[in-house]
Amino acid sequence: YGGDVFGTVCFITLIIALIFLYQKNMFTIMVDPVTGGYSSSRFNQEAEYLIRHSVPGDYTFIVMNTVSFKLLNDIYSYDESNRILKYIHNTILKYMGKCEILARSSADDFNLLIRTTSEEAIIQKLDLIVDEINRFNDELTEKQWIMFSVGVYQIVDTALPVIHIRDRANIARKKLKIPTGDILYSCGFYEEEDRARLQQENILTNKMEDALKNQDFKVYLQPKADISTGRMINAEALVRWKDADMGLIPPDEFIPLFERIGFIRRLDLYMWEQVCICLRRWMDAGLQPIPISVNLSRMHLINKDFLAPFVKVQKKYCIPPELLELELTETAFQDLPDAIPEAISQIHLAGYTCSLDDFGSGYSSLNNLETLDIDVLKLDCKFLRDARTENDKGHIVIEELIHLARRLGITVCCEGVETENQLAFLRKCHCDIGQGYLFSKPVEVAVFEQRLSGDSSV
Ligand code: C2E
Ligand code: CA
Ligand code: CA
Repeated sequence: YGGDVFGTVCFITLIIALIFLYQKNMFTIMVDPVTGGYSSSRFNQEAEYLIRHSVPGDYTFIVMNTVSFKLLNDIYSYDESNRILKYIHNTILKYMGKCEILARSSADDFNLLIRTTSEEAIIQKLDLIVDEINRFNDELTEKQWIMFSVGVYQIVDTALPVIHIRDRANIARKKLKIPTGDILYSCGFYEEEDRARLQQENILTNKMEDALKNQDFKVYLQPKADISTGRMINAEALVRWKDADMGLIPPDEFIPLFERIGFIRRLDLYMWEQVCICLRRWMDAGLQPIPISVNLSRMHLINKDFLAPFVKVQKKYCIPPELLELELTETAFQDLPDAIPEAISQIHLAGYTCSLDDFGSGYSSLNNLETLDIDVLKLDCKFLRDARTENDKGHIVIEELIHLARRLGITVCCEGVETENQLAFLRKCHCDIGQGYLFSKPVEVAVFEQRLSGDSSV
């Protein structure tokens, strides 16, 4: 009898222990130990349920990735970082309505499933959330901004598994540059064509390393002409990707991608080396070399010592530095205003010419002309395109810009010269240099060399 009782007690204890363990386990599966909110698996389950039982378009999926968190992780302890994550979670949670859910999906990323509203309303909500999250900075002298990169997908396909829904929100998120400076978040909305673009980008990303090794990136040269004489005085190196399957790919299709993933730094240096090789060949063949400019992506400027590998290559081929020019675009001046004067002085120290590219295409600042020590101002082709009629305001703007730059001792190169009329106009306003289809399209190096060995007029 005693043995029976003992056996029953053991059995019941075992059952209780099993139930306890099961619940504890479930608890850890359902709850995120860091935030105390939904775990990602609970989020996925509930999201799947809510979406399946909704009308297409009813729900919107948002991914919010913290951009600067890795930095915070370095500054703060593990526990403190977790407290910050919990704080972010709880702040977002305040903005969640009925039948809306939130979870931390991975280290420092958050997923939100909310009822669909207009894009403006979503932006307004994000403004509020990100502002509130960053309000702790009010009391700090040294601000620690928490920045986000956000992607939004309005769920029209309710049969899609949550992982694919999240992928779409992430595709939208990756469309944009990560926020910098005083912008605390960037936000992209998913559009159908994004998927095709991403596929194309994946193909290019998979091919780029081999392409660089196989020398599939080609230098094309476009002459720049002295406006007063029409003679070719220098040239710009422009990249083309010659792919066996896809043919000739123009730079606009891969440069923005390469800038995002950082590969542009290697490509620019490769172009620079090809240009040095080309100049060396001309010199060795007894041709009169003309200076060549190479585009320098703003991605280089993140690194203080960015110019060292360029100088090394130039010295390797013994190229006189005055034959080399670097073109920096104006956007660099907004993104990294502090790095620019230093970059320009490094470029000058190495003996290269420095030009400000695409002036007028973005938020140009006349202030840049006064404060930055650039040698050449490249007026964006937009100016000539806009200035169609003789007395157009656009003409006045070009005229005044040329006048101003000249007074500041800066050489002016006008891009996109396509017609004789435009050339006559530029001549009238004493523009120094012109570049455009009227003189020549960018051509392969071999074609360019033939012209160089013949008459140097364009
Ligand atoms: P960009 O530096 O402003 O180069 C001038 C672009 O205008 C070139 O386009 C050129 O072909 C085009 N162009 C020249 N003349 C005319 C004209 O008369 N009319 C019109 N409508 N267009 C003209 P491309 O070669 O497609 O290059 C596009 C952009 O890609 C370049 O703009 C530059 O920002 C970037 N890029 C090209 N090669 C490189 C490179 O090696 N490195 C980096 N970082 N960027 C590059
Ligand atoms: Ca350029
Ligand atoms: Ca340009």
